[in-house]
Amino acid sequence: MKIFCVGRNYADHANELKNEIPASPIIFMKPDTALLKDNAPFYYPDFSKEIQYETELVVKINREGKYIEEKFASKYYQEIGLGIDFTARDLQNELKSKGLPWELAKGFNGAAPVSEFVPKAEFGDMQNLHFGLYLNNEAKQQGHTRNMIFSIDYLVSFISRYFTLKKGDLLFTGTPAGVGTVKVGDRLVGLLESKQMFDFEVR
Ligand code: ZN
Repeated sequence: MKIFCVGRNYADHANELKNEIPASPIIFMKPDTALLKDNAPFYYPDFSKEIQYETELVVKINREGKYIEEKFASKYYQEIGLGIDFTARDLQNELKSKGLPWELAKGFNGAAPVSEFVPKAEFGDMQNLHFGLYLNNEAKQQGHTRNMIFSIDYLVSFISRYFTLKKGDLLFTGTPAGVGTVKVGDRLVGLLESKQMFDFEVR
């Protein structure tokens, strides 16, 4: 399976990192070994001193497709979840400054914790969802999917022009503002609407 991620899909987050608002989606990928499921703990890696959380709505692809038209894109996912796009920001900044790829900073082991997936039918309009992150019981990120620069359906369509989507592929749809660092001992709890989606620790 493949894990797709979108960079800078919320203007407020692009601004906080002093990045330009993109004219087309910024897509990158993580390997399947980045996945962390079932509230398993995240082990802080030794190559970074600045691991940041990015809380994101995650869409699970449920059928194969390529060159999917935007108007049909919603037929290609039936379940959604919440995930963290963990980022070694210090390493990413170093790589970016040299014009190098980000993989080491975004694709390492455990860099993609995801919740259970739930039917999207439970939630209604995909572009009208609140989600948030609590770090040690303190609200750190509050997002709303209407603030995405590129909608989920647009992203599915866009990505499918380059990569054949397959059942089980995941799409991290970008983070709102409020990203910050984690440290050993932290507890991360994610909410989608009023539903608790994940609850895990940093070790
Ligand atoms: Zn992200």
